[in-house]
Amino acid sequence: MQQRYKSTRGGTAQDDYSFEDALFSGYAPDGGLFVPVSLPSINREKDQYSLWSNMTFPELAYDVLRKFISPTEIDDANLKSICDKSFPLDAFDEECYIPIKDVGSSLHIAELFHGPTFCFKDFGMRPVINLLSYFAELRSRPITLLVSTTGDTGPAAVHAVNDASNPLLTILVHYPHGQISDFQRKQLTTLQSNYVKVASFEGGGDDMDWPIKETLLSSKSGGKDSGVGAAEGGRLFCGINSYNIGRPLVQMTLFIWIYLRMAEKLGLSPGDENSLIDMVLPTGAMGNLTGAYMAKQMGVPIGKLYCGVNINDITHRVIDRGEFHQQKIEKTLSEALNVEVPYNFERILFYLTGGNESLVKGWMETMDKTQQLTLNELWLKRLQQDFQSASITDDEMCNALRETYESSFEHYLCDPHTAVAVAAAKKLGVFVSMKVVAEEGHI
Ligand SMILES: *Cc1c(COP(=O)(O)O)cnc(C)c1O
Repeated sequence: MQQRYKSTRGGTAQDDYSFEDALFSGYAPDGGLFVPVSLPSINREKDQYSLWSNMTFPELAYDVLRKFISPTEIDDANLKSICDKSFPLDAFDEECYIPIKDVGSSLHIAELFHGPTFCFKDFGMRPVINLLSYFAELRSRPITLLVSTTGDTGPAAVHAVNDASNPLLTILVHYPHGQISDFQRKQLTTLQSNYVKVASFEGGGDDMDWPIKETLLSSKSGGKDSGVGAAEGGRLFCGINSYNIGRPLVQMTLFIWIYLRMAEKLGLSPGDENSLIDMVLPTGAMGNLTGAYMAKQMGVPIGKLYCGVNINDITHRVIDRGEFHQQKIEKTLSEALNVEVPYNFERILFYLTGGNESLVKGWMETMDKTQQLTLNELWLKRLQQDFQSASITDDEMCNALRETYESSFEHYLCDPHTAVAVAAAKKLGVFVSMKVVAEEGHI
């Protein structure tokens, strides 16, 4: 099986990208985002699900990635070792990886913070960095990852790069001086590593985004002939935020895993299309949401996807009223959700429209030009069939956090991001019908 990649905006007829091209290029040359040319449809036979049910987390990650990376690019043994290295038992919480806690009678919380940096970013970052490391080695080409962070992405990335210990793979991280938590600043700056450089800058959280994007573009990442596979020589700069297709791909595993564990918990027969599991996600750049949606598109019985966002609520405005209109970022207590334009919405639109590239291209070009895109009634209705959302203020988040603590069996203390999801679930009334979940959190 050959798995190739293309742009959400269609690109040109000659475009045909390998996984390696897509992983290294970040954005497609036409400005779109990479997606697999086809999504495998999960074998509905119970077999697939019973196989999956018995797998360890690294085995499941391997099985999922195997469907998206051709064996001619990475053979079985190497892909297995990448997955094992990414999710080592001693760095993740014993064997359960994602404990699911019952908080009250109808709320289950999937905890995604049991990795080495206590943040769910570990799950997506580690395999992506090990995949990059594999190709750097294969091509004998030095790569520097560029990241700007307000807290969660940076620590996960530097620890993953340090663990990869590949002299060809280094990382340069920037964080806004005085604007990240002390704990996360220490996670970044106290790591003694030959592979990691960290710098702070004066300014706001997203002030480094533009210089980084410029550097990435001028290093000629992007395009069929400039990916690591084709060009020789110089150092390549690479971005690893969730516009990179590697992130949603590996994060699909989370949702398959959570689905399987919930099906066991609720006594459902795994794979049964009549027993869908709804999920509530604290949503920022929609990377995780895209992972969940892709799993759903492949046939995993995931029901509705509910997005909890803070007052930086472009995601809510588009799901509620069809208005994908860019606004200025406001400070909140749930930093990781402070996103002005969730770039993965482009992938959501791509799958929502059944892969209608010209429609997506038109929409996104309007967005690029005017910072505004308005969906018509028809598409808004379609969007609302799969997604619902709520916008949560800091006060509402704090109330949800307190109420959960006071009303739960063992005084469950969630972090502000989880609390946004819990507040959204309450606001949307999903507890009544809900079979599930809100995911994650970190310290
Ligand atoms: C990054 C992050 C999110 C947002 O995830 P997206 O994939 O960007 O939507 C939510 N919660 C936490 C704790 C995060 O670190």
